[in-house]
Amino acid sequence: MERRLTRKGILFVLIGPSGSGKSTFCARLVKEFRKELHYSISVTSRAPRANEVPGKSYHFVSREEFLAIRERGEFFEWEETHGNLYGTLRANLENGIAMGHDLLFQIDIRGALSMKRAYPDNTVAIFILPPSFDALKDRVLGRSSIEPEELRRRFATARQEYDALLELRNDPGKIDYLVLNNELEETYDNVRSIVVAERSKYLRIEPQAVSQFCEVNDDGV
Ligand code: ADP
Ligand code: 5GP
Repeated sequence: MERRLTRKGILFVLIGPSGSGKSTFCARLVKEFRKELHYSISVTSRAPRANEVPGKSYHFVSREEFLAIRERGEFFEWEETHGNLYGTLRANLENGIAMGHDLLFQIDIRGALSMKRAYPDNTVAIFILPPSFDALKDRVLGRSSIEPEELRRRFATARQEYDALLELRNDPGKIDYLVLNNELEETYDNVRSIVVAERSKYLRIEPQAVSQFCEVNDDGV
């Protein structure tokens, strides 16, 4: 049997304003680390965008269905963002952790902080920062058609996320990495390097898994 360095699962959380590039990098990571990184599909009451596949981007449900799931206690965390409800299913998280899988989340900063509180040693929070407000605006407008009112709501949320980001500077260990999303390929390289490095952190690796590689047998020398 192949010997492996086994370790506890890591919860990688991508955060950043709408249009910062979270979905783009999640899709690339899942494609590259297919067997080793599982995407946690959130539940939302918002309507699907033209390019979104139900059950892949999100589980799209009505507001009533969302509230019923919440009532049954099936969410690990949920938040309301620009008028829509979003939640992480408890089962996604618990099954992933139990199976020792690494999980990938794309949730807002409040959700990321809930995860940090519950799993401080396992959560890696990565904030994706657009290079400018103009670039963010161009990217959001270039992604799909959006009503002016919806755009204003998203920018209001972006402002709150930036405020939270700046405040958390004085609260070490909440946001682990900040990645500027200027050039796409370079940024992806940075994000994937974080994933690769975090997976090799010595403290995450089970001691007995390490010992199997540390035999020194000089009998036959
Ligand atoms: P989010 O998931 O954070 O809302 P997306 O991943 O949907 O953001 O990205 C918003 C838009 O910006 C998408 O059309 C995406 O292709 C584009 N985009 C992301 N990163 C870059 C980049 N570095 N340069 C140019 N366009 C980008
Ligand atoms: P969007 O409508 O652009 O897909 O997402 C809006 C915001 O909701 C983004 O910041 C996204 O990360 C966040 N979001 C998506 N799923 C969840 C979730 O399960 N929990 C929380 N707290 N936020 C989420």
